[in-house]
Amino acid sequence: MNKKKFAIGIDFGGTNIRGGLVDNTGKIKNYIKISTGSQKNYQEIKNKIIFILNKVISKNSSFKKNIAGVGIGFPGLIDVQRGIIIKSPNLPDLRNAPLALDIAKKIELPVVVENDANTIAWGEYCCGKYKNPESMICITIGTGIGGGIIINNNIWRGFSNTAGEIGHMIIKENGIKCGCGSRGCLEQYASASAMIRDAEKAIKRGVKTSLNLNKLTAFDIYKAAKKNDILAKKIFLSSVHYLSLGIASLINSFNPEIIVIAGGVAKAGSFYISPLKKEVYMYAYTSLINKTKIVKSTLGDCAGIIGSAFLILNADLNL
Ligand SMILES: [Zn+2]
Repeated sequence: MNKKKFAIGIDFGGTNIRGGLVDNTGKIKNYIKISTGSQKNYQEIKNKIIFILNKVISKNSSFKKNIAGVGIGFPGLIDVQRGIIIKSPNLPDLRNAPLALDIAKKIELPVVVENDANTIAWGEYCCGKYKNPESMICITIGTGIGGGIIINNNIWRGFSNTAGEIGHMIIKENGIKCGCGSRGCLEQYASASAMIRDAEKAIKRGVKTSLNLNKLTAFDIYKAAKKNDILAKKIFLSSVHYLSLGIASLINSFNPEIIVIAGGVAKAGSFYISPLKKEVYMYAYTSLINKTKIVKSTLGDCAGIIGSAFLILNADLNL
């Protein structure tokens, strides 16, 4: 554990950027959330991060000396060792951006940048209800599907920092085209966007449903499914089915102690997790499955901030 008791965590999302001062027990002080905005050039991204950092630090200026550093969770392919964003799927203009160095110069604290799904997993691993298991895989389901794999008290990044791209596991041959360039990726079948896309298509085809084309989120589909809307239920369970195929393969490959389901979809709780478990247990190799717990995130929207701060606070992590 780092000798200093605090670090700042930033979670850079597609809709919001969240930040806060995190202590070494995982408590967040001075939580700040601002809109990511639509103009997403590198200068603006830096300005928004600096804005949050200044807000958090000025509220705590008397003990800046106790702040060990800043961790930033950012979507995309990150060179963690050099603190560079190699590329980010929704920010095509951002290439080889030296974010850690640029922020460190301004703020005069050590800065670490890591893939956002990895920071969520790291947050759940360090501070969630099921903390410090032997191994953990965290699957974040939202617009896309992200993943973080924790093995031997470390984030498993792979040979060139791209491990954990669970959303791009291919679960259907010649399936739906994915933004990554491949076909049949899990995220095309089990993400919130996939659910919305399938609902839109069915409504346009004239399928009878209580769902409304003008107000259609994954949460609306969940609410309608709970009220027994046939289309909503079908879409919801189809997403559960494909995710269960992905999870069964992960269990067979890694035999993790715990799988955490995070992101917006996890808010459906046992309505989502119970049928998911049932299917996973059906598909996974039985002798391994008995030991793997499947649970929903216990830190919710805060996992990314806490995990980012713990990139700094948990000094055992190999960066
Ligand atoms: Zn893909």
